[in-house]
Amino acid sequence: MPKEKKTEKDLKEKKTKSLKKEKKELFAEYPNLWESRSQDDIDHTMAFAEEYMAFLNISKTEREFVNNAIEALTDKGFVDIDTKKALKPGDKVFASIKGKGLMFAVVGKEAIVKGMNILGAHIDSPRLDLKPNPLYEEDELVFFKTHYYGGIKKYQWTTIPLAIHGVIMKKDGTKLSLCIGEKDEDPIFYISDLLPHLGSEQMNQKATDFIKGEDLNVMIGASKLPDDDSSNACKYAILKLLNSEYGIDEKDFVSAEIEIVPAMKARDVGFDRALIAAYGHDDKVCAYPALMALMAQEAPARTCVCMLSDKEEIGSYGNSGAQSRLYENFLVEVFAKANGGYDELGYRKCIANTKMLSTDVSNAFDPKYANVSDKRNTAYLNKGVKMEKYTGARGKSGASDANSEFFASILRIFAENDIPWQTGELGKVDAGGGGTISAYLAKLGMEVIDCGVPVLSMHAPYEVISKIDLYFTYLAYKCFIENIK
Ligand code: MN
Ligand code: MN
Repeated sequence: MPKEKKTEKDLKEKKTKSLKKEKKELFAEYPNLWESRSQDDIDHTMAFAEEYMAFLNISKTEREFVNNAIEALTDKGFVDIDTKKALKPGDKVFASIKGKGLMFAVVGKEAIVKGMNILGAHIDSPRLDLKPNPLYEEDELVFFKTHYYGGIKKYQWTTIPLAIHGVIMKKDGTKLSLCIGEKDEDPIFYISDLLPHLGSEQMNQKATDFIKGEDLNVMIGASKLPDDDSSNACKYAILKLLNSEYGIDEKDFVSAEIEIVPAMKARDVGFDRALIAAYGHDDKVCAYPALMALMAQEAPARTCVCMLSDKEEIGSYGNSGAQSRLYENFLVEVFAKANGGYDELGYRKCIANTKMLSTDVSNAFDPKYANVSDKRNTAYLNKGVKMEKYTGARGKSGASDANSEFFASILRIFAENDIPWQTGELGKVDAGGGGTISAYLAKLGMEVIDCGVPVLSMHAPYEVISKIDLYFTYLAYKCFIENIK
């Protein structure tokens, strides 16, 4: 009798098991990667994150990212494309786009007319730029006036340590590069806020209003020279210091490009160190793995290209933004030099055959703010790279919508190579939305889809990403450029 009972139980267990298996096969499931990946994967994840954080800490602005990327590329044997008359398989070339964007490529074995494989990220991030006449003194304190760059919540930029990065062109034609506030011994800069004791009126205003754009003034000085009781003595003391240190005067700021960014370094978040907080994950958390994926190529089948663009946060305008022809010029040059000469129709065919990942971040689901997302169609931390078929807002307006044939071909390659991925939209329908550089490249005729790391507190001075998402995004980018045809 007890034997029979056991068989019944066994049968039930077997049925549940096969039901579970069948469900697993039929349902779309996006597993948590910490739970579903090997210890080897976790070790690689932690090591990759450390390298990313070190690179990010010295690459907070687009100019710094370009300089550091060129250094890394040069070490790997990449040369300026101008130095090459012709390109053969295995050749590695780059072109700086005004020092604020970068294109680089590894030439493939296949005829270039069959197309290239491209990864494209942006390397600018939301920040505060100095106004043309930034310097002023008020009530014996000295400030820089700023104009914010990109979409920010202005109140988040008060009472945090700030650093000054950028370039000043001096009258003798030399370029002065500034980076103050990053070393432990450096001073930092600061935007004040009202004490809560006197803040009741302020706190009753809308969050969009209580810190105004014109109030984002950065404190840069508070002393004067001995025995100077003249007007603007504090401003004079600062200018005198800047003049003796750097040889500049007030007018030199007019043509300068000075960016105020958070002085915080990238740090591990949580007891388990699973996450990273840093300034500028958007979009350096995609630009860095794209850079690494390209640098891992020696002699790919198809020519692989990486595009790192500027000005995405303000619409990709100007000659360093993704809408600039300078980026396409590089594609033309790679084509012509690998093809044994330029041929207009050949180039256009090459672009039509080109496949691209627009490697940009998207929002990660935040349980605190669950109401802005459709839980069934949002990306989550720790579930891998987010494949975003379309962007846009309010009825997909302004969207770049990837073709189903192309999207599915990537998912097939990911499945073959065991690359986990997830999907989702940026927020609920009509909750908001956004765009990336994808539309500008799709316009040229290539196949493009958005694909990047989910970010918590996106566009805040200190954003958060998951280390395991970062590592598997790197593997996804590498898999794409090596396998897509
Ligand atoms: Mn972005
Ligand atoms: Mn952004």
